Amino acid sequence: MPDVTQRDEETIGQHIARHGVSRRDFVLFCAKLMVAAPFGLSLTGHARAADVAREVAKARRLPVIWLHFQDCTGCTETLLRTSEPDLGELILHLISLDYHETLMAAAGKAAETALRTSMKENAGKYVLVVEGSIPRKDKGVYMKIAGKPAVSMLEEVAAQAAAVIGIGSCAAWGGIPSADPDPTGAVGVDAIVKGKPIVNIPGCPPNPYTLLGTVLQYARAGTLPELDAEKRPKFAYDRTIHDHCPRRAHFDAGKFARQFGDEGHRQGWCLYHLGCKGPDTHAGCSTRQFNEVVDAWPIGIGAPCIGCTEKKVAFRVPMFQVIPIHDATPPATYAPIESPQGSLSVPAALVVGGVAGALLGAGYVASRKFSTVQGDEKVPGSEAPADPRPPDEGPGARPKE
Ligand code: SF4
Repeated sequence: MPDVTQRDEETIGQHIARHGVSRRDFVLFCAKLMVAAPFGLSLTGHARAADVAREVAKARRLPVIWLHFQDCTGCTETLLRTSEPDLGELILHLISLDYHETLMAAAGKAAETALRTSMKENAGKYVLVVEGSIPRKDKGVYMKIAGKPAVSMLEEVAAQAAAVIGIGSCAAWGGIPSADPDPTGAVGVDAIVKGKPIVNIPGCPPNPYTLLGTVLQYARAGTLPELDAEKRPKFAYDRTIHDHCPRRAHFDAGKFARQFGDEGHRQGWCLYHLGCKGPDTHAGCSTRQFNEVVDAWPIGIGAPCIGCTEKKVAFRVPMFQVIPIHDATPPATYAPIESPQGSLSVPAALVVGGVAGALLGAGYVASRKFSTVQGDEKVPGSEAPADPRPPDEGPGARPKE
């Protein structure tokens, strides 16, 4: 457990210096944060990574209590599985993670004591992060921690929090446990917690930089980023996957994979007909990807997007069902990217022929105009004009001995 006294006095900059985190690694992390949050996060609204690093370094480490409910721990995993710099290690320096059932060494009564101590010492100041959905059916009997239903534990810990963050689709709106037939009555945080600022960071899993950007802005400025109607930070959820998908050119050109493993799939064409929900899904996966590995995201490895950040899509619409396109079709005024071979119409051929003839004629006239060789009657490049001088006087003549 962190030393609470030191935490209250130390800034993030002092803390990471004391623990030997290099400035280079820290600036590299801030550069990645800027890439993950290029707009809409006031912390990254600076020109250079060094400026962001300076701002973050001034902040005090935020006390964080992390609760797990009905989840697979994938959101924690994604936070810990990044590298260069090792984000898993770095996050433990950026925030003060006072309670996290998966990561903490304590168990049983010692863990309970850690939770109570942090709640008491940081009342009104800590951020509560919730991973997993909360079962509400039958008075919440389907999940108990320390003898209490999960719903009671959430209400109690949230009551003294400064803000609550639902990380992952399960905590944001129920996620996988809430899929039909929803045996436990699973809901997200905002169905239970009232009267507190709530931020949803959905995704299965979400991008860890979205969580860190939100938490660090709160630590530095005491403000939360602007949210959309689903309480998602706009800086990370303002565009659809389809807007920046590397396969978008194939979508616009009408080149689609029709079956897994067919020629189109092997060629990396658009996955829309395999059920891709990218056109309806607001998330940054197509530009930010995961775990610092290029193409480490579903569409990057040939799997259609399942719409995991959308309350009405993932675990509601069948995974491979093709969705209607609402507004992602290119305008009719766009020229076709590819025209089928052998289908040139007669009027089009006449127009093309006329234009080509005019260009050739103009070229011939231009060549006549610019030729400086006396008596030249030929188009330049067709044949060298006859040189009227004797062979030993013209260009290329051997020097006389
Ligand atoms: S439909 Fe899916 S695979 Fe195709 S361009 Fe859009 S997001 Fe990419």
